[in-house]
Amino acid sequence: MLIGLDIGGTKIEGVSLDPSTYTLINKVRVATPKDNYAAFLDAVVSTIEALSSDQAPISVGIGCCGSLSKDTQRMQGSNLLYLNGEDFIGDLKKYIALPITIANDADCLAISEFKSGAAKHAENSCIAVIIGTGCGSGIIINGDVVTGLNNLGGEMGHNPLPGYKQEQDGEAVTCYCGSTNCIESFCSGTGFERTYAAKHVLLKAKTIFEQAEQGDADALQHIDTYTDQLARSLGSIVNVIDPEVIVLGGGMSNQGCIYPLVQDKLSRYTFSKAVTTQVVKAEHGDSSGVRGAAILPQLKGLV
Ligand SMILES: [Zn+2]
Repeated sequence: MLIGLDIGGTKIEGVSLDPSTYTLINKVRVATPKDNYAAFLDAVVSTIEALSSDQAPISVGIGCCGSLSKDTQRMQGSNLLYLNGEDFIGDLKKYIALPITIANDADCLAISEFKSGAAKHAENSCIAVIIGTGCGSGIIINGDVVTGLNNLGGEMGHNPLPGYKQEQDGEAVTCYCGSTNCIESFCSGTGFERTYAAKHVLLKAKTIFEQAEQGDADALQHIDTYTDQLARSLGSIVNVIDPEVIVLGGGMSNQGCIYPLVQDKLSRYTFSKAVTTQVVKAEHGDSSGVRGAAILPQLKGLV
């Protein structure tokens, strides 16, 4: 069986899957140790051992914030600060004698949905976009996940919003990454709330959608602008990689009303106006990260 772990700031979630059908065999969830690398490593090993009690695993895939440095193979860019600079995979291999791979959450979403979810009918390509607290994406081309030369594959959230105009998109905004008008600042759930607050009052995204359902004109207009921003962003991706399916994940993807709006607007922003690319909701929701992590070693041909 395949073991997958999804390591987040508050919890470590683990699953075991059948390697042929990707059916769930078992799952475990433990709290992420707060500030101690040794305790963290111990928690990861214990989670893998707990999942190994039913059947022998053949591989371990890990979805984790942060990535491995191409030079040192040590962790970088993780919001679990004690992980940065550590030889996490090397240390784990001292305890677990199996193929081990690591990828970020957006890549895991793409893998999960491509192999066994909303994009499973795609022959060789899809893009999965997380629109949640932030905005990132995972890209599958020729059946493999694209990480890229600089580990930047899929970082569409930090491209400038295509067609930005102050009168339609609001005041220019500087992103934490240092760039101006990043897609993430508009298309993430956080961005959706920020741009609404700039025009009206600060409300939770869920409340804005509830008000739209009741016919509130401001909320409806805001959702129309938001889906246009998302369509512009996705249109530029279609023009570059033209994936077979676009899968949306993260909190904003649960709002069903955005799909027909984005679908309708998408072809306004693509080179050919006859695009048939479907924009669909992730099938496995919050479980996609851990499922994709489990499937990753198989996708990489390690098992
Ligand atoms: Zn940015």
